[in-house]
Amino acid sequence: MRTVTVVGASLAGLSAARALRDQGYDGRLVIVGDEPHRPYDRPPLSKDFLAGKIEADVLALEDSDDDLDAEWLLGTRAVCLATRTREVVLSDRTRVRSDGVVIATGARARPLPATESLAGVHLLRTLDDAVGLRADLVPGSRLVVIGAGFIGAEVASTARALGLEATVVEAMTTPLAGPLGAEMGAVVSRLHEHHGVRLLCGTGVSRLAGRQRVEAVELADGTVLPADVVVVGIGAVPNIEWLIGSGLALGNGLECDSEGRTNVSGVVAVGDCASWHEPRLGRPHRVEHWTGALERPATAVSSLLRGDAGAPDLTKSTNAPYFWSDQYDVRIQFAGHAAGADSVTVEEGSVESRSLLAVYRRGEVPVAVLAMNQPRLFGRWRRQLNSAAVPTAIH
Ligand code: FAD
Repeated sequence: MRTVTVVGASLAGLSAARALRDQGYDGRLVIVGDEPHRPYDRPPLSKDFLAGKIEADVLALEDSDDDLDAEWLLGTRAVCLATRTREVVLSDRTRVRSDGVVIATGARARPLPATESLAGVHLLRTLDDAVGLRADLVPGSRLVVIGAGFIGAEVASTARALGLEATVVEAMTTPLAGPLGAEMGAVVSRLHEHHGVRLLCGTGVSRLAGRQRVEAVELADGTVLPADVVVVGIGAVPNIEWLIGSGLALGNGLECDSEGRTNVSGVVAVGDCASWHEPRLGRPHRVEHWTGALERPATAVSSLLRGDAGAPDLTKSTNAPYFWSDQYDVRIQFAGHAAGADSVTVEEGSVESRSLLAVYRRGEVPVAVLAMNQPRLFGRWRRQLNSAAVPTAIH
């Protein structure tokens, strides 16, 4: 290979570029990113950066000893991939002829329709989003968070620490039931109430009121929540529209085998935009977690550099998906898949003490583990999950 183009200049793109060099690739390396910034870390955007405890320079992901010898095309969007000629076409009409392509375009925050022009309404995905939101988190003001997912929950937690009033609105009856299951979702959501956050579940938002600036959130059940600032945290959408018509298999993400290979030779996908075949589930699964975007590119790059030789082993799995979330005084850690578990038991600590370890099982087989403020025990269980033979698909 003489030219490899990485599209997306964030954690997964940078990790892929590093893996290419680490694995001996010494050709031309082009990295395309539509944000103007060099790669930066997103998790602090809802935590220490939002709280004003750290500044943007601390978010840089590159190390001083990174020697990628790459051409960085920042502030430039890839608009299409011509798979036959393997050219990445950029917004300025440049065409980058590539022998290999790594797609790492991540995801974007899902907006609430018809609210984009209202001041005081924020999404949170980028550094620029976080800078805008931080300026609006004025102590004493009233925050309404729409969506009690991890990002919404972290924003509420940070806002409480800054001295705002916070209300979280969630359409489902139990927050986080998808990733954690209903029982543990309820446990984690109780953190909000314990920290003085009003949590309203099972009701949707009918509209946001206000002329130039948001003044209130009106709920489907008629409740009106006065608001000075609103954060919309209703999930993320993979950035794959630019690939429509390319012949790549697109579903909920760019579909790949269990080593990151797409259905087009010489094209791999990593990070939040990619939906890798997950042997534990027996189907493609898109992982939106930091650790996946860090670890999986090495596997994808290795399969890219090997070429088409060797079909992927569909029973071989990467590490179980893992994420953490910091809310109030609790570090939540989760690994595995809650879906498919038929029991969950608290094996250490208690819900009341907000320090616990819970194991999800299907029959006798552990399929996931959740910890609140139990990092060491969690580490042991996570290693066990990763090293276990992959059970037959749990779905
Ligand atoms: P992204 O970071 O989304 O980067 C993709 C890049 O590609 C972006 O710069 C995007 O603008 C660019 N791009 C998109 N389309 C194009 C195009 N057509 N051409 C060129 N460039 C393009 N995970 C955890 O496990 N724990 C946490 O506590 C946690 N906290 C988080 C807090 C926040 C506020 C956010 C937003 C995320 C958090 N995450 C957390 C998730 C984690 O940050 C992501 O999983 C990770 O950033 C994914 O990296 P990525 O490189 O795949 O995608």
